[in-house]
Amino acid sequence: MLRDALLWASTNPTLAQKLPRYRFVQKATKRFMPGEDRQDALNECATLGARGISSTITLLGENLTSLDEADAVVAHYLDSLRAIEEQGLRTVISIKPTQLGLDFGVDEATRRLAQLCAATPTTVWIDMEGSAYVDQTLDIFRTVKRERSNVGLCIQAYLRRTAADLESLLPLDPDIRIVKGAYNEPESIAFPDKRDVDRSFVALAESLLRARRDGGRGTAVLATHDPRMISETNRLANELGVDREAYEFSMLFGIQRNEQDRLARAGYRMRVLVSYGSAWFPWYMRRLAERPANLWFVAKQMIG
Ligand SMILES: Cc1cc2nc3c(=O)[nH]c(=O)nc-3n(C[C@H](O)[C@H](O)[C@H](O)COP(=O)(O)OP(=O)(O)OC[C@H]3O[C@@H](n4cnc5c(N)ncnc54)[C@H](O)[C@@H]3O)c2cc1C
Repeated sequence: MLRDALLWASTNPTLAQKLPRYRFVQKATKRFMPGEDRQDALNECATLGARGISSTITLLGENLTSLDEADAVVAHYLDSLRAIEEQGLRTVISIKPTQLGLDFGVDEATRRLAQLCAATPTTVWIDMEGSAYVDQTLDIFRTVKRERSNVGLCIQAYLRRTAADLESLLPLDPDIRIVKGAYNEPESIAFPDKRDVDRSFVALAESLLRARRDGGRGTAVLATHDPRMISETNRLANELGVDREAYEFSMLFGIQRNEQDRLARAGYRMRVLVSYGSAWFPWYMRRLAERPANLWFVAKQMIG
C-alpha cells in the first residue's frame, strides 16, 4: 500500500510543485543525487571513475509541454557530451523518450535521438517509461538502430510482454539494459508477484547471454541492486561460457555502494547511473517506492 501511495505521489503535479520547496526534502534527496547541476553529476562520475566504475548521467524531467523544451533537452545533452569528452570521463547518457518529444509524435523523438547518436561514438541509452510508451519506444529504437549502432534500450522485466519484445529485438544485435520496472502497472500487463518479476529478469538475462554466446555483439546491462539477480547472472554466464566483458552491472548512485565497489574490484564491469536536474520529485518518489524503508532516511532528515 505504501508503495502504491508513493507511486501515486510520483504522478501528482501539486506535490511535485510544493514538496521540493522544503529544505528537509531537498536534504533527503542528497542520498540519491549529488546535486541539481550537470557538473555536480560529472564530478561524481570522476570520483566513480577513480573507483574503477564507469557511469551514466541522466537529466531528470518527464513529459514536456512543447517541442521547444525537447530542443532544449537535446542542446543540453549535446553540451553534456562535449563536457564528458573534455573531462575525459567514462560516462554515457541515458534519456527518457518523452524528454525528446515523444508526446508530440514518434518521429519527433526519433529525429532528436538520432541527432544525439550522431554526435558521439559512445552509446546513447533510451530509458523505458510507463507501459503506454513501450510500443512507440521500441519503434524509435528500431528506427535509430538501422542507421546507428550506438543506441541502447532499457526493457522492463515486470511487463508480461517483454520476453516477446526481446525475442523480436535480438536479430538487431542490441545493447539492452534489463530493469525490473519502476512504474505502477496493472496486473493485466505486469506481474504482480515479485517472484515472477525476478524469474522474468533472469530469463531475459539468459536470452541476452545466450545471444552473446551464439555470436551476437550486443552488451547485456543488468541494472539491479538485487544480489540474487547478480549472482544468477554470473552463474548463467559461467554456465554458458560467456566472458565478463560481454555484460555489465549497473546501479543507481547512492544505492548499494559497497556492492558496487565489490563488483568492480572483483573484475566485473560496473556502471553507476547519476541523476541530476531540478525536476527530481517524481523520480525521487519512485526511488522511495522501491524501498519504503528509505522513508526512515527522509524522517531522520526532518528531525536532524
Ligand atoms: C541503472 C538503472 C537504470 C534504470 N532505468 C530504468 C528505466 O529506464 N525504466 C524503469 O522503469 N526503471 C528503471 N530503473 C529502476 C528499476 O526498474 C527498479 O525500479 C530499481 O532498480 C529497483 O529494482 P532492483 O532490481 O534493484 O530490485 P528490488 O527487488 O527492487 O531491490 C532489491 C534490493 O536492492 C536494494 N534496493 C533497491 N532499490 C533501492 C532503493 N531505492 N534504495 C535502497 N535500496 C534499494 C534493496 O536492498 C532491495 O532489497 C533503473 C535502475 C537502474 C539501476
